[in-house]
Amino acid sequence: YKHHSGQARPSGQVVYCGRDMQRTYAMIKPDGVRRQLTARILQRFIDKGYRVIGLKQLVIPRELAEQHYAEHRERPFFGELVDFITSGPVVAIALEGENVITGLRAMMGATNPKDAAPGTIRADHATTIGENVIHGSANEEDAARELGLFFGDAELLR
Ligand code: ADP
Repeated sequence: YKHHSGQARPSGQVVYCGRDMQRTYAMIKPDGVRRQLTARILQRFIDKGYRVIGLKQLVIPRELAEQHYAEHRERPFFGELVDFITSGPVVAIALEGENVITGLRAMMGATNPKDAAPGTIRADHATTIGENVIHGSANEEDAARELGLFFGDAELLR
């Protein structure tokens, strides 16, 4: 699946996805959905050459939010973060593409929009460090874990 190897389907058919093909989890946070940014953010992903293989708008149940952000459980902003991410609908996105994990992180820009490079999603649209429009998995392990939290296999395009 990675590094030029083929991905075997249950049928035994092997599908070659190319070099460093990855999947990651992206999420438009409630501030972005509220501000009608969904379509233009999805368009950025498609323009970049990524494939949207899963998509849903949902209000995240509190328990799922706590699981998703489990690594931040001890941080002082954890309560605020869970309140915010459950405050309205989010758009959950499964993306596929070459090096999409780091590619998405680059498109997002720094956590604090004040530090985000010009042209990134956060520089263009985010307001504060807490309400920063977009989430993207930090690494391969988080990508697999977060995709599993938000999507079943049958919900994703092959
Ligand atoms: P990123 O989303 O860029 O990977 P982190 O994993 O460090 O950033 O933090 C997760 C999310 O927690 C951030 O996107 C932001 O919404 C929130 N957050 C991070 N730091 C703070 C902070 N100091 N105060 C409030 N919210 C924060």
